[in-house]
Amino acid sequence: MLTLRKTSAGFGLNLGAIDEAPSPAAREVTVEVEFAGICGSDVHAYEWTEGYGFMVPHLPIVMGHEFAGRVVKAGAAAGVKEGTRVTVMPGIDCGVCPNCARGDSRNCQNRASIGLTRNGGFSRFVTIPGANCLPLPETVDTELGALTEPLGVGCEAVLTGEVGLGDTVLVMGPGTIGQAIALFARAAGATRVLIAGKADGPRFDVMRDLGFTDILDVAEAPLRDLVMAATGGRAVDVVLEATGYPPSVTDGLGVLRKSGVLVVAGIHPGPLTLPLTDFVRARHQLRATHGCARPTWDKVLGLMAREPESIRPMISHRLPLARGIEGFELARQRAASKVMLRP
Ligand SMILES: [Zn+2]
Ligand SMILES: [Zn+2]
Repeated sequence: MLTLRKTSAGFGLNLGAIDEAPSPAAREVTVEVEFAGICGSDVHAYEWTEGYGFMVPHLPIVMGHEFAGRVVKAGAAAGVKEGTRVTVMPGIDCGVCPNCARGDSRNCQNRASIGLTRNGGFSRFVTIPGANCLPLPETVDTELGALTEPLGVGCEAVLTGEVGLGDTVLVMGPGTIGQAIALFARAAGATRVLIAGKADGPRFDVMRDLGFTDILDVAEAPLRDLVMAATGGRAVDVVLEATGYPPSVTDGLGVLRKSGVLVVAGIHPGPLTLPLTDFVRARHQLRATHGCARPTWDKVLGLMAREPESIRPMISHRLPLARGIEGFELARQRAASKVMLRP
């Protein structure tokens, strides 16, 4: 079957055929992948930028951790029936480390990850633990189902930022995670959701299609001027960062109200220089978010089921897996927002 694999520690991916996925063991299922999204982290692994060395011992591996499809074979104890439409949670806990033993599996010390440390969804079939599959609500098709993981990351960021009724929120970065953050900030009751980005035409367009019109382009003026003009001189209540560009954190703190929360969701290639005196005097709360806790997945699926079509504009390109490299190039050059591959 055709797959898109990381085969070596360097630039690029390999599009090529490998043997069919193995038959599922008792607790496993084989999923026929219908849609698999290209994630920003997949693009980093494709480019082989800093921070993906953890993949090396697992190469070659089929990438793809944002996918949905149909269970076509299920082991006797998999807990999911054949024919079920599912989305997939990529994290696999070891179940035996001290953190898992005390029920804190989110902080498992030996976490494996579908699509990063074992074969993922850029292939027609993949065999994974049944426990990683979540049935899709009836109103959510598998194309939308493949957005569950990035939506979950955005939802977790909004929960971490404690966005509340009536808040004015600044989302930094108009990519998929920024879009997910904006959607859930609105769902959480934010009155205004400001979106900041830099000369990011295609992704600004997606934001507009999702109903976000307060778009601040920092290519045109400094962030602070744009925010103050938009709010009539008021600092914002919560800043949610999804740029992966370290100076955006200090820029964001510069427009955050005293005691406000800034959540860092981006994966940053370098360190942050933080003026600590201002930070301390403003009692700013700097928090990190990464991935999506198990209970958050249920919240996300519940919200997706309510208004599925409001989410679909996030998908900007649809390509067959055979054109996967083209999809990665589109994502890399920021010409695309979310690229969905069809294996
Ligand atoms: Zn992802
Ligand atoms: Zn563990």
